Amino acid sequence: MRYIKMGNTGLLATAPALGCLPLQRCSVEDAVRLIRKAYDGGIRFFDTANAYSDSEYKIGLALEDVREDVVIATKSTTTDKEGTWANIRNSLRMLKTDYLDLFQFHCVSQVPDVRNPDGAFAAALEAKQQGLIRHIGVTTHLIEIAKNCIGTGWFETLQFPFSYISSREDLDLAAACEKKGMGFIAMKGLAGGLITNVNACHAFMKQYPNVVPIWGIQSEAELSQWLRAAEEDPEMNGEYLAQIEADRKELSGSFCRGCGYCMPCPVEIPINNAARMNMLLRRSPYRPYMSDEWREKMNRINDCLECRSCASKCPYQLDTPALLKVMLRDYNEFYELHKND
Ligand code: SF4
Ligand code: SF4
Repeated sequence: MRYIKMGNTGLLATAPALGCLPLQRCSVEDAVRLIRKAYDGGIRFFDTANAYSDSEYKIGLALEDVREDVVIATKSTTTDKEGTWANIRNSLRMLKTDYLDLFQFHCVSQVPDVRNPDGAFAAALEAKQQGLIRHIGVTTHLIEIAKNCIGTGWFETLQFPFSYISSREDLDLAAACEKKGMGFIAMKGLAGGLITNVNACHAFMKQYPNVVPIWGIQSEAELSQWLRAAEEDPEMNGEYLAQIEADRKELSGSFCRGCGYCMPCPVEIPINNAARMNMLLRRSPYRPYMSDEWREKMNRINDCLECRSCASKCPYQLDTPALLKVMLRDYNEFYELHKND
């Protein structure tokens, strides 16, 4: 298991680390077993969030007795002091702990301001002074905001989408963080499920020694793949490079990253998945998307109001309503072809 120094925090994370968003989809029993298996396999960094429903609760149940051995990072989306304090207290209660190793401002679209006495930062600083939080970080999907966060010197870590299809500009954030003594946490290393080659991902991430890759794992089979990769520790080679090159060609540019910034939608279209349905169908197991439930969700695209609220919020400047229509057409064709598989 490789250990990664997280900037100047003194925290050590493991590669792989566990991204705990998908734990929401597991039963309590299955999630606890999975987290514990990750721990037994040597994983020591767990990233969760207030917003991931019962993910914190499941981590608390699984790791309470080994709390001192693990690094737990969580996040809050609140921007006011009172709400942030409430989320910190809730995280501590759910996680069954009296301190958070890393507290992050979640998915920000503006830099949280350390000088605002009524803002989220004020709560985080108070909690840090009281020993309830050890370090303060930030997460975002927006490159300019990420750069501004690094520039302020206010944050100890940055979490940002980082995978082998990321742009040069995105990848350079890791070096910028290192220069500033900040830890760097890579989210969406599988580009939201579009990349499937675990060994190529492992070999790619290893080239960035200060990057903590968190993988959203929701089954023991997936966990075993990552633990095996950690054990075998494959180096970059011609085969992986060819795969990376092919994926870059297919996935780079104007495609939906599934970040969800465009949501909510007034007619409840699940845009973060619907707008990349073509790739989900072809690059991940497609059966779950053939269900009656998913057919109904995709057909909500027919109810689109053309309000363009989604397009105005998309950080990748996608024409989201137009993209959704293309996705619905593609989905219906795919469905007809594969419904009897
Ligand atoms: S334009 Fe359509 S998809 Fe986008 S937010 Fe409005 S209703 Fe939803
Ligand atoms: S349409 Fe844009 S904002 Fe919405 S999920 Fe996709 S990439 Fe993110």
